[in-house]
Amino acid sequence: MLKFKHIFVIVLTTLILVIGFSAFGGQSTSAQTIKFTSAMHTSKNLTYNGTIKYYVKADAKKYAPEITYATQKWNKALGKKVFQRTNSISRSRLVFTGTNKLNRNYAGVAEINSGVIALNNSWMSRYNQQKRRAVVIHELGHTFGTKDLYNYPNGTLRSLFKRQTIMGGNYATSIKSFDAKLAKWTLQKTRSMSQTEFHHYRSNQGLYYQQMLNGQL
Ligand SMILES: [Zn+2]
Repeated sequence: MLKFKHIFVIVLTTLILVIGFSAFGGQSTSAQTIKFTSAMHTSKNLTYNGTIKYYVKADAKKYAPEITYATQKWNKALGKKVFQRTNSISRSRLVFTGTNKLNRNYAGVAEINSGVIALNNSWMSRYNQQKRRAVVIHELGHTFGTKDLYNYPNGTLRSLFKRQTIMGGNYATSIKSFDAKLAKWTLQKTRSMSQTEFHHYRSNQGLYYQQMLNGQL
């Protein structure tokens, strides 16, 4: 009885892992095998009228090739030109900045409320092109409202996400079926901010946008 139960548990665990992995395989498999949960998203995304207009600040111009690469990858994966570059910072919903003032543990940080992606120069300057691209792709994933999956509550899934997904921090430069479906799903589960709400955040001295303008970020 005990032995049977033991074997049963092993078989079941193996089955779950196989199902789990299959969700990340080729295009033919379905991401339905792993359920998206509310632990994967926040409440807001950065879209406005379906797009995210982004501005590249002078100190991030050195990362322009990676930013172009990453935004095009996401636009293709979403089947929609969500990311559009603008030369007007006031019309942007997202600003890229390159900084030396970020916590040394982070290669990049995305702050959704005031719409800033800060890239850590000390990491970016040491990374090769593939890793620089991967950092930008990951940070852009947050603009849809998706959380870091390397913090996911379930341990088994967490380690799977770490190895297999962009939001788990796998440093991939190709956006797989799971990543794309999660992004689309998150956009549906989160809301976009009104101009009033967004500008309220942009004028908040404690948030990244003002810190960036004041040279504190
Ligand atoms: Zn992240």
